[in-house]
Amino acid sequence: MNFYVLTLFPDMVSDGLSSSIIGRARENGSILVEAVNIRDFTEDKHKKTDDYPYGGGAGLLMQAQPVFDAHQYIAGKIGSERPVRTVYLTPQGRTFNQQMAEEMAKEENLIFLCGHYEGIDERALEEVVTDYVSLGDFVLTGGELPAMVMIDTIARLVPGVLHNDASASEESFSGYLLEYPQYTRPEVWREKKVPEVLLTGDHKKIREWRKQMAEDRTRERRPDLFARYEKLLNCHEKLRKDKLHHAGMLELIARGQAELLFDGEEGILLQDKKSGVFMLTVKDREAGERILDEVFGKEDIPASIPVQKDMFVVHQEYMVPIVVKRFDLKLWSGCYILSYTRKESLPKKDADIRRLDMSYLGAVTSHYKVADENEIAERLSGGNIFGIFVAGRLAGFIGEHTDGSMGMLEVFPEYQRQGLAAALVTDLANRTLQKGYMPFGYVKEDNTASLCLQEKMGFYRAKEKVWWLVR
Ligand code: SAM
Repeated sequence: MNFYVLTLFPDMVSDGLSSSIIGRARENGSILVEAVNIRDFTEDKHKKTDDYPYGGGAGLLMQAQPVFDAHQYIAGKIGSERPVRTVYLTPQGRTFNQQMAEEMAKEENLIFLCGHYEGIDERALEEVVTDYVSLGDFVLTGGELPAMVMIDTIARLVPGVLHNDASASEESFSGYLLEYPQYTRPEVWREKKVPEVLLTGDHKKIREWRKQMAEDRTRERRPDLFARYEKLLNCHEKLRKDKLHHAGMLELIARGQAELLFDGEEGILLQDKKSGVFMLTVKDREAGERILDEVFGKEDIPASIPVQKDMFVVHQEYMVPIVVKRFDLKLWSGCYILSYTRKESLPKKDADIRRLDMSYLGAVTSHYKVADENEIAERLSGGNIFGIFVAGRLAGFIGEHTDGSMGMLEVFPEYQRQGLAAALVTDLANRTLQKGYMPFGYVKEDNTASLCLQEKMGFYRAKEKVWWLVR
């Protein structure tokens, strides 16, 4: 991923992002950080880049011309067909958070524009900026520090930047709770002993202790987050009453990526913070309509709800025409959810299965027609697609969708009927179990081969279908 920073103080940015994890990531090529000096682009013979504001007022303002030309230079260098996402750091922007970082980490290129003095001539901003982002309700002397904070946060989500695959997703704010307290050697320090349970080697007990600590800490330090967590737990309880039918919603909650938009006697509406998919289950048709009115009908839709509503999973068939009409969608398919509810791993099959990298984009895209190339590239770069190899040649693949469901299962025609699909399902299900989640997937109602295979392997099929509605 490439970060370009337009600034009057390039050394501050380059030097500030040259140590530790980010420094190493720059060195090994996982990320590129290029600081571009706006002053190099001024047409003023004295190299001036600022002037007094029209209408008077304190301080100086950065002029439009050098900012615009510096941006043109970088945009030209990137050479992308669509405008490159350009963030202006400003106290007047949307407040930066983890969700925004996750969303921006999907970009290949990001340009940051740092203001200084009293800011930048509005006309330059109008020409180049796509996102106005603030670090918080305080005023700094320049945009360099916020740009560095954003780059640090986004970069650690880029595959390859952190050593451990799990460490980016198992920390505070990736779920709903703050992190539990941690300890390292020595066992006793200033007469303070490391909590006993951590020395037992009993992983179940350790997990329980950590969860309890995370809850206590969140309740105490961030009551706002804790209240949201409690609401989701309550929702989880309700959905568990029909857990096979609601496995997709339950797993969204379990994986820390559910935004609760409505919860009441009438039903539940969640949104996947990562993919944007809405998931709706309701008591009856009237209740469903009321929920949609309540959440989407008002003028002041919360900023957390993306403007585009292009994917819905509904859990009751009578809601299909209502949602289709309301959001101008079409029915993709009725699906059964299949869940593997046991905790033990599936018996391992002898097969050569490897995580696929971006060099397989062409191979995956040419065989899997349900997702577009961007989505497949995003899954591949995140390390979420696995290939099976026969005599060193790719023979099929399986993947985890953004919402955590298993899918994208393809075995190439010449390799079918050799048990490769079962080996792929086993491998991904076991990886999912290892992360502490339940393996599940949506299977199209007419895909009898997949339904039979997974049932034979010990997956349970929900009695009721769900319906995927897409644009
Ligand atoms: N006159 C500007 C205003 O009231 O919005 C503030 C200018 S500030 C002194 C100078 C520069 O620092 C801004 O152009 C912006 O790039 C950056 N900056 C200051 N506070 C910031 C914050 N909380 N978040 C992001 N950027 C900030």
